[in-house]
Amino acid sequence: MLIQSDAAPSGTHRTMVTDKGSFAAAHCSCGWKGPARRARDRARRDAEAHTGS
Ligand SMILES: [Zn+2]
Repeated sequence: MLIQSDAAPSGTHRTMVTDKGSFAAAHCSCGWKGPARRARDRARRDAEAHTGS
Protein backbone atom coordinates (compact mmCIF):
# COMPACT_ATOMS: atom_id res chain seq x y z
CA MET A 1 0.00 0.00 0.00
CA LEU A 2 1.48 3.30 -1.04
CA ILE A 3 0.57 6.43 0.82
CA GLN A 4 1.14 9.90 -0.55
CA SER A 5 2.69 12.20 2.01
CA ASP A 6 1.17 15.48 0.86
CA ALA A 7 -0.31 16.12 4.32
CA ALA A 8 2.74 14.98 6.26
CA PRO A 9 3.81 17.21 9.14
CA SER A 10 6.91 19.33 8.74
CA GLY A 11 10.14 17.55 9.53
CA THR A 12 9.25 14.53 7.47
CA HIS A 13 10.09 13.75 3.87
CA ARG A 14 7.65 15.37 1.50
CA THR A 15 8.33 14.28 -2.04
CA MET A 16 7.12 15.61 -5.34
CA VAL A 17 7.78 14.87 -8.99
CA THR A 18 8.60 17.68 -11.37
CA ASP A 19 8.86 17.55 -15.14
CA LYS A 20 11.88 18.82 -17.04
CA GLY A 21 11.12 18.65 -20.70
CA SER A 22 10.66 14.99 -21.51
CA PHE A 23 12.17 13.95 -18.17
CA ALA A 24 10.76 13.80 -14.68
CA ALA A 25 12.68 13.92 -11.43
CA ALA A 26 11.67 13.44 -7.82
CA HIS A 27 12.43 16.05 -5.18
CA CYS A 28 12.11 15.98 -1.42
CA SER A 29 11.56 18.64 1.21
CA CYS A 30 14.82 17.50 2.87
CA GLY A 31 16.79 18.61 -0.18
CA TRP A 32 17.15 15.22 -1.82
CA LYS A 33 16.82 15.00 -5.58
CA GLY A 34 16.27 11.89 -7.59
CA PRO A 35 17.77 11.23 -11.00
CA ALA A 36 15.98 12.42 -14.12
CA ARG A 37 13.76 9.71 -15.52
CA ARG A 38 11.97 9.36 -18.80
CA ALA A 39 8.85 8.17 -16.99
CA ARG A 40 7.11 9.95 -14.12
CA ASP A 41 6.29 6.56 -12.62
CA ARG A 42 10.01 5.85 -12.33
CA ALA A 43 10.63 9.18 -10.64
CA ARG A 44 7.79 8.45 -8.24
CA ARG A 45 9.37 5.11 -7.39
CA ASP A 46 12.64 6.90 -6.67
CA ALA A 47 10.77 9.12 -4.24
CA GLU A 48 9.12 6.13 -2.61
CA ALA A 49 12.45 4.42 -2.22
CA HIS A 50 13.86 7.58 -0.66
CA THR A 51 11.11 7.81 1.93
CA GLY A 52 11.42 4.11 2.61
CA SER A 53 7.76 3.36 2.02
ZN1 LIG B 1 13.81 13.37 2.01
